Amino acid sequence: MPRILVVEDNAINRELLCDWLEAQDYEVLSAEDLGGAQRLLQGEQPDAVLLDVQLGGEDGLSLAVWMRRQPEFSGIPVIAVTAHAMVTEQQRFLQAGCNACISKPVDFKLLSRELDKWLAPLQNRHSRV
Ligand code: MN
Repeated sequence: MPRILVVEDNAINRELLCDWLEAQDYEVLSAEDLGGAQRLLQGEQPDAVLLDVQLGGEDGLSLAVWMRRQPEFSGIPVIAVTAHAMVTEQQRFLQAGCNACISKPVDFKLLSRELDKWLAPLQNRHSRV
């Protein structure tokens, strides 16, 4: 199954996302801050990242910006998770390098659709092998 990295500073939100992903049979990695996320990315490459945009005092978007500058991470889909559902904010997230944006509280049906969408090229690749 695809491996998803969850980056979320709030322990309850993180657990909720991780539990749901595990229940869908995804492999799950999680980090609570930028440093932890960067360390994990350098160890084991996830197939997608769920990124909380507000990581306590840190700007979650800087992870997307950083990933897009690294050839080994530039192709990994990043889905921003945010309390800001405003279109202007979404554009800022997409410009920073996120592929999609979903709002909090997370609608799991929507998240499932986004994951299917962004992981589809990967699944096609696997099924051809
Ligand atoms: Mn947060």
